Amino acid sequence: MGKELSIYVHIPFCQKKCLYCDFLSFRANREQIRDYFTALRKELISASRDYSGYRVISVFFGGGTPSFPEAGEVCETLDLISQCFDVSKDAEISLEVNPASAIFDKLCRYRQGGFNRISIGAQSLDDKELKALGRLHDSETFLETYGNARRAGFQNINVDLMSALPGQDTASYLQSLKGVLELEPEHISAYSLIVEEGTPFFEMDLDLPGEDEDRLMYHETKRILKEHGYHRYEISNYARSAIYECRHNKVYWKRGNYLGVGLGASSMVENTRWSNVCDIHKYIEMSGSDGIRENLQRLTTNAQMEEFMFLGLRLVEGISVKSFEREFGRDIFGVYGDVIDRYKRSGHLRLEKDMLSLTDEGLDVSNTVMADFLLDDG
Ligand code: SF4
Repeated sequence: MGKELSIYVHIPFCQKKCLYCDFLSFRANREQIRDYFTALRKELISASRDYSGYRVISVFFGGGTPSFPEAGEVCETLDLISQCFDVSKDAEISLEVNPASAIFDKLCRYRQGGFNRISIGAQSLDDKELKALGRLHDSETFLETYGNARRAGFQNINVDLMSALPGQDTASYLQSLKGVLELEPEHISAYSLIVEEGTPFFEMDLDLPGEDEDRLMYHETKRILKEHGYHRYEISNYARSAIYECRHNKVYWKRGNYLGVGLGASSMVENTRWSNVCDIHKYIEMSGSDGIRENLQRLTTNAQMEEFMFLGLRLVEGISVKSFEREFGRDIFGVYGDVIDRYKRSGHLRLEKDMLSLTDEGLDVSNTVMADFLLDDG
C-alpha cells in the first residue's frame, strides 16, 4: 500500500472575531482575500511536487471561517488539490462552516464542488449564550443552515457544541444538546470552553459555571449521547457509527502524515514537523517558496514515542502495543512499564489483548495521565 497523506487548508478570515477565539483569524477586505487564495494556490502547486507518491485520504478546510469567502474561491482551491495530488476516490473532504455565512446557494456549490462532509459551528442553541460568545448567528440561523446543508445533499454533518459557557447552567446546556440531537447529525463534537490568554474573554469578568457544574455537563453529554446511539471515539468526539468518525482528525491522533497549507498551518510528514508563517503579508509575498515554512523540526525517537502515547490515548480504542513495537523497534513495557502499571492499578488504564486504552475514569483526567508519558529527553 502506498503512503497516505491528509491535507489541511487554513482559511483565516472571519466576519467578526468571537470573544473567546484564539484561532489565527481576522477580518479582511476582498482584495486581501483574493490575494490570499492566489497565494494558497501557489503553495499547493509547489508543495504537490514533493508528494507525488502519496495518496490523499482526507482534505479539511478549516479556519477562521471557510464559508466566509466566495464559494468559488474555495471550490477552485479544492479543484486544484484534485488536479495536483492523487486524491483517493473515497477521500473524506470536509469544510467548516459558520451558520452566519453558509447560505443555501453556497452549500450547494460546496456539495457540487466535491465536499462530502460539513462541520457546522453551532456552539449553543441558546441565543443569550451565543450573544455572550460574540457569535454572529442565532439558533434559528443555525437550524436553517443545518436544514440547508441536508437539502444541499450533505449526508455527513458534524455539529460543534460548547459547554461551560458564560451564563450557562446544566439545564440550558442540555436544552442545546437535545436540540442538536433532534436533528440527528452523523457526528457531534462537544467541548468545554477554555478561556485562553490573549482573548477578550480573558480580560472580562465572566459568569462561568463552577467546576462541579462543568463536570456535570461533561458526564451528562456522555450519558445522553450514548443513550441516543452515538459512540464516543475520542475524548470530545461522538459518531453515530464508525463510518462517521472524522477520518481527518484521526490522522492527527494516529500520527499519520498531514500537510497544512495556508497561513500558520502546521504539518507533519514522516516525523518532521513545521509550520507556516503567521504574517499574512509575508505569506502572500513568499508563498510557493520554502520561505513560508518555519520551526522545522525532525522529531527525536523519544518525542515520537511520547506523541504516539498521548495522541493515541485520546482515542477511546487506545493504542496498539504491537504497533508501538513495529514503529519503534522497542517493547512498550520496556519504555513505559512503570507508568502503565501504576495507571492500571489505579483503574485509569486497561490492557485488553493488544490494545492499551484509558478507562472511562482515565479519559476524565486524561491530561494528568498523559503528562506522565513524557520522557526525560523527549
Ligand atoms: S468564527 Fe471561529 S475562527 Fe472565527 S472568530 Fe469565531 S471562533 Fe474564531
